[in-house]
Formats: sequence, C-alpha cells, structure tokens
Amino acid sequence: MTSDCSELQAKILELKKKRNALILAHNYQTIDIQQIADFTGDSLQLARKSAEATGYDLIIFSGVRFMAEMATVLSNGVPVYIPDPSALCPLAAYVDADKIRAKKEEYPGLPVIVYVNTTAETKSETDYICTSGSAVEIVKALGVESVLFGPDSNLADHVRMHTDVEIIDIEPRGSCYVHNQFDLAQLQLLKEEYPDSISIVHPECPKEVQEAADMVGSTGMMVKTVAKAPSNTIFLIATEMGLIHQLQKSFPDKKIIPVWEGAICRQMKKHTLEKILHVLEDLPEENRVTVPIAQLPHITEVLEQMNKVKGQGPATPVVQES
Ligand code: SF4
Repeated sequence: MTSDCSELQAKILELKKKRNALILAHNYQTIDIQQIADFTGDSLQLARKSAEATGYDLIIFSGVRFMAEMATVLSNGVPVYIPDPSALCPLAAYVDADKIRAKKEEYPGLPVIVYVNTTAETKSETDYICTSGSAVEIVKALGVESVLFGPDSNLADHVRMHTDVEIIDIEPRGSCYVHNQFDLAQLQLLKEEYPDSISIVHPECPKEVQEAADMVGSTGMMVKTVAKAPSNTIFLIATEMGLIHQLQKSFPDKKIIPVWEGAICRQMKKHTLEKILHVLEDLPEENRVTVPIAQLPHITEVLEQMNKVKGQGPATPVVQES
C-alpha cells in the first residue's frame, strides 16, 4: 500500500487484517482497488493465487463472476466474496452448457476446449479450459485435427494463426465487446506517429489488429514485457484501460500509450472501494460466491489441468507509487 492511502483505503486495510482476508484484483480494476489488493493479475494468475490461499479466512475477489467462481473451486474451502455480485462477463454469456451439448452431438468425438471466460456451468461440460496465454499450447498438445472451441471467436482466430488444427467455433458470434472494438486504423495511426514503438494487443482483439501488432498476449504477458523493457521504451497497448493505468503507474520510466482510450469494461468497473468495505464489514450472504456441488469434481479437474499448463507465471506485485 502506498503512503498517500485514502481514509477509505486505510479502513479497508485495517479490516482486511482483522478478518484475515486476501484481496485479489484483476488487472482491469481501478487503481484505487489495485492499491489495496494483495495481488493483481490476469485470470490465470488470480486462479493460481486462489489455490494458494490456505491460511486466510476469506478471499475478496474483485473481478467478474466467472473468475470468482474459479477462485471458489480452487480455494480449498476458503470462502470467496465478490464486491458486486452483478459483475458478469458478457463474453461468457455467448456459450452455455446446452450449446456445448448441441455442438458435441453435431461433432461427436471432437475435444471441447473453452476459454476461461465461461460460467461454472459451461465449464462443467468441457474437456479442457484454456486462457488467452495457453490456448495455442493446449490445442497443439492435443495432437488432433479438429477441436470445438469457444466462446471467443477472435481468440479462435489467434489459435488458427498459430496452429494447423481446424478450430470449429461453438458460437461464431462470441466476442468481448471491449476488445472487439479495437480497430486496425487506430493502431496503424499510432504506429505511424511512434515508429519506434512496440505494439502489444490482447488476443480478444480482431484478427487484423492482431496481425498488425508486434506482439499478441494476455495482460499478464503485457506486464512482464513492459517490466523487462529498457527505460524510455514506447509501448502501444490494446487492452482495457485498467491495465493501461497500472502500467503507467508502475513503470513511469516507459511511455505507455493506449491504442483506444474508450476500452473500458463496465462490468469490471462495477466494483468499488465502498463495496469492498461493505463485504468486509458485513460478509453478506448474497456476495458469497458458490458453485453447485454436482459440478465441482469435473470443474476442479479441468481447472487443475489448466493451472498446470505453462502460463504467465506468478501474479504481479501490487502497484507501487512512483
Ligand atoms: S473485458 Fe471483455 S472479456 Fe474481460 S470481463 Fe469485460 S467483457 Fe468480459
């Protein structure tokens, strides 16, 4: 935590200690939330942190609900609370368990891989779960000619670009409304303006944006790449603004330019410091995240398998003041 901690942040930190709570925040959370978190990271990094939460009495998970569900499955019984239970990922809504069952009937015998951005119910019907950083590796490792894949059609394109495997979309319309709005022209104009820059885009961006970029990767990979770069490096980054603000604050010696400043996930931004404090004070039952017991064994198995795949490494430290 930083020296210019607000009164509200100080209150949260005090209560967090009393409750023996672990606060996990996604990279797309606002900076004030990232500052009071024990760890900030992408969905894979936070899933791994949840699995190491033994010793805490509760987890407060500041991210969208599918992430909090994964934390619930992996936390070895440590209860998980979400500051705003209505924070849902619209991308996850594109594919449900019924859609997967129907696709399996249409393509019997093909392995099903779903992106981590899916509900617990959807995960209970899949064979494998991938993250944006592990999708290519998982598809290649299967050694098959075709797979069923969803829900993100841009991530599907990313896998097509890097493997010879036939990727059959479970739902061809599936996309993240935030990343799908990045536009090739925005990136090209910035590249012209900053010819010495390095561009990194998220694989949820459209195919043509991925093709024009120097690098494509998850937010965890973006943080690591910027951290390792020499001072004064200029980066053009295409992802949600929460990560941009984190990078600008953490690495003031580098120039971090958002490809599009309108990239704001309204669902991620539903969480606030006030809501976190409310959870810590009252532990409201409606904020407690649960996963149906019947789905637990299969989801645990596929998530543990996902966690074993080489990913983005450890969660990044909490943002430090410059
Ligand atoms: S940024 Fe996109 S994928 Fe991430 S939570 Fe928001 S809508 Fe879902």
